[in-house]
Amino acid sequence: MDCKKIAQLLYPDVTETPEDIFKRYPRRQLKEGQVVTRFAPSPTGLMHIGNFFQAFISYNLAKNSNGILFLRIEDTDEKRKVKEAKAVIYDVLERFGIKFDEYQTLDGKDIGDYGPYVQSQRERIYKVFAKKLVEEGKAFPCFCKKTEGKEDVLKLRETKFYEDDEKEYDPCRDLSYEEVKKHIDNGESFAIRLKTKNTGKERIKFYDLIKGELEAKANAKDFVLVKSDGIPPYAFAHAIDDTLMGTTVAVRGEEYISSTPAHLELFEALSFTPIKYCHNPLICKMDENGNRRKISKRYDPEANMMYYFEKGYPVDSVLEYLLNMINSGFEIWRKNNPDKPWQEFKFGINDITAVAPLFDMVKLNDISKNVIARQSGEELFANWLVWAKEYDAPLAEILEKDKDKFTKVCAMDRDGATKPRKDIYNYSMMKDNFDYIFSRPTSYELDSADTAKANEFLSEYLKTFAMPPNNEEWFEGVKALAEKLGYAIDNKLYKQNPDAYKGNTAKACEFIRVAITGHKNSPTLFTIMQILGEDEVKTRLSHKF
Ligand code: GLU
Repeated sequence: MDCKKIAQLLYPDVTETPEDIFKRYPRRQLKEGQVVTRFAPSPTGLMHIGNFFQAFISYNLAKNSNGILFLRIEDTDEKRKVKEAKAVIYDVLERFGIKFDEYQTLDGKDIGDYGPYVQSQRERIYKVFAKKLVEEGKAFPCFCKKTEGKEDVLKLRETKFYEDDEKEYDPCRDLSYEEVKKHIDNGESFAIRLKTKNTGKERIKFYDLIKGELEAKANAKDFVLVKSDGIPPYAFAHAIDDTLMGTTVAVRGEEYISSTPAHLELFEALSFTPIKYCHNPLICKMDENGNRRKISKRYDPEANMMYYFEKGYPVDSVLEYLLNMINSGFEIWRKNNPDKPWQEFKFGINDITAVAPLFDMVKLNDISKNVIARQSGEELFANWLVWAKEYDAPLAEILEKDKDKFTKVCAMDRDGATKPRKDIYNYSMMKDNFDYIFSRPTSYELDSADTAKANEFLSEYLKTFAMPPNNEEWFEGVKALAEKLGYAIDNKLYKQNPDAYKGNTAKACEFIRVAITGHKNSPTLFTIMQILGEDEVKTRLSHKF
């Protein structure tokens, strides 16, 4: 009886009941197999790859089941609230094309019937359930201050409540109505704690959709449901929200497994059907000593999703790489379906890896090379320009001034090529990759032993040089001169007796290539020469090594 009176004392203004609230959040009418899932980030100022990983898994689960994906901003932790942090979340999600069926717009408009989709706007709802739990004696007000009397509280806990180390009962759990009233009359603020029904001896089994059945010690702590500022921490808020919002599967990080027993006790106290959790493994990195560690925003720039935009990775490269981490079957699928969009790769909950994936930049770059190889010259140019406009304004200006030229540059060994070059994995590397287009080489990848030969060949080549009409004729011209100067044009003969020649045709081409581009490797030289124009090519060929 006193519980009811205490509840009324704590929440005199709360007149609604959980039933009233449930009326406003009717059960979703779902078809068999439809998944309702969500992404529930806390605005911290950056989007960590681990969080984005969850968003992407949830996105796919909803998409692959024709289900529903909603975005819920979990901003109840005031200390972690960062100005503009919400905008960062929206920005990253939008850039990656993660679309939600239900969410709140940045200017506060709820799209969907289960809002508000921002936790700080749901305080009234949480209070209704907190009041109910207090009424039922399943929760109680706690007046202990964090700062004062801490030793007393600990002592009290030890003597009065602690029979052993197994449980953590709070000293306020059995306050009488009169005691509560005294605190309230004093104007003291209060937190609400769960009155755990466990003693610390119990164990519970629960099911995780990725890891299967798990067993752990049941919760035996009177943990906080609502803080003294009236705001509920994660445990209470998510239990209520996921229930009201009709979540069928909650994808969250593995770090929540240890608190799942507490969450399940809370669901039971609230008389809610427990939610189905899918704890995804955390993305790891290998440290210098060969040990796995969690990828961290402190040490790993790639832990921040903005990194990929700054470096100019195509969105599809990053998403394909994540798919690869989620399910190793993706790689085989991609091999068998080189031209299909990744969206056609379907996976379900059972296909999600249970093993912590290892972040591997080389693998990402490999995937990205293939993604970029699928772009046409025009597409690549457009993407490069978009990137430059955001991250390298002077470059963007150059690209825009000479659109045709740079589109041709992007199309080299790409448009119409049976095997497009796979040397670019992000847009920020393109300027270096094509440095010879922007300016004459300042360094040359020529073996020093070749200097004299290269100078001789090039000065002869320059004497009669005129821009050839096509690649074949260009090559024929090089071959003819090479032969005249004592180079083998038949590679077989050359290999049988290399000392009889100055080199082979490939060597002769290398001299021209290095003179023009500075590099031993480049796209088709003839195309580069066409882009640079005859005069420029002549100037470069006249270089003395
Ligand atoms: N706000 C929590 C986080 O960012 C969400 C956990 C969950 O998805 O339930 O870790």
